[in-house]
Amino acid sequence: MQTDSLITQAEDFIFRTYKRSQIILESGKGMYLYDTQGKEYLDFGAGVAVCALGYGHKDFNEILKKQIDSIIHTSNLFYNIPSILAAQKLCEMSQMDKVFFTNSGTEANEGAIKVAKKYAFLRDKHHKHNIIAFHQSFHGRSLGSLSITGNTAYQEPFKPLLEGIRFAEFNNIASLEQNIDSQTCAIILETIQGEGGITPINKDCMKKIRKICDDNDILLILDEIQCGMGRSGKMFAWQHFNILPDIFTTAKGLGNGVPVGAFGVNEKVATSSLTIGDHGSTYGGNPLVCAGINAVFEIFERENIIQNAQIMGEYLAKKLDMCRQKYPIFIKRQGMGLLQGLWIQKSDEGNTIHNNGIENTRIVAKALEHGLILLPAGDNSLRFAPPLIVSQHDIDVMIDKLDAAMQDLGF
Ligand SMILES: *Cc1c(COP(=O)(O)O)cnc(C)c1O
Repeated sequence: MQTDSLITQAEDFIFRTYKRSQIILESGKGMYLYDTQGKEYLDFGAGVAVCALGYGHKDFNEILKKQIDSIIHTSNLFYNIPSILAAQKLCEMSQMDKVFFTNSGTEANEGAIKVAKKYAFLRDKHHKHNIIAFHQSFHGRSLGSLSITGNTAYQEPFKPLLEGIRFAEFNNIASLEQNIDSQTCAIILETIQGEGGITPINKDCMKKIRKICDDNDILLILDEIQCGMGRSGKMFAWQHFNILPDIFTTAKGLGNGVPVGAFGVNEKVATSSLTIGDHGSTYGGNPLVCAGINAVFEIFERENIIQNAQIMGEYLAKKLDMCRQKYPIFIKRQGMGLLQGLWIQKSDEGNTIHNNGIENTRIVAKALEHGLILLPAGDNSLRFAPPLIVSQHDIDVMIDKLDAAMQDLGF
């Protein structure tokens, strides 16, 4: 079928909630994606930080196929072996005590909010608690997660949202302290803000937040949906800071493309929050997706994926710093491991190309013409989130394509 007519068909029948490139992706191999015209794209987006093992990973696919032939779904009224193995592994890797499987990131955060609310309710027997989140955060699109997402444009049409949510400045302890009071039950943050522009929490701040939480029995919730599962160069980004959360959430890279998420809690929270009947999910933790999680953990170990993320992350950062020297419109680079952002000087003239600035989406579109997939992030930055199998050569090719795009744009 013709690509154009398929796109028309898509516009006819799929609710238009995304601004999409006029491309239909059809297959993938390793670091590359192919569209219906046969054009090849080097992928530095990984399906938004999902496809850690790239595309068509043979062992990963074999494990899934085997699971399909064994059993795809059972209800949560029974146990299933893949979920038992996945839960143990996730607890070991995160140093948490109990996990709950969801189908997405936003559902993981919904669960985390419910856990925090129940914990505080059991302790204080009232409903006056508040939760502190941060400006420029992103926690998902469902109503609870949207309520803690520090982006007023996303929230505005859907108000009223959850009550008792306050927003503090990220990496600003004074702002956090101004928002905390005796009714604060939880603080939630992304260890590295993703959609907000790839901003890591700074070490000092992270330590202080942990201490504030310890001193006041406030639960620290870390959203590791984007920055976790090896992307930062460690399994979880908080492991760079020598602290532990009370609750964490994960998704994206956890399933390498099978739709799955999870939240996990420490012993203190596990023993005084959710009990039988408090939470559930029909698909959550089904055998198919949990086989996917187990395959991810297995292949991560066998192929030293996290070590690769750490080494290639350093190389990527170095190459992006060189880009920054070359193109003054790149005003800063920030990130950790294979989650990096280049902040761009905004154009004075809005969406037009101008000597002193440009919109990130213009660069993303031009890179696409050169067969490179990049993601925009935040107000005006480029996000680099390749599969964790990326090689030095892939990074060099990416930089060449970015150079070509920048030249086309007159830089
Ligand atoms: C993507 C993302 C979410 C939402 O995950 P979904 O699977 O899209 O619901 C939440 N938090 C962060 C940090 C994310 O990057």
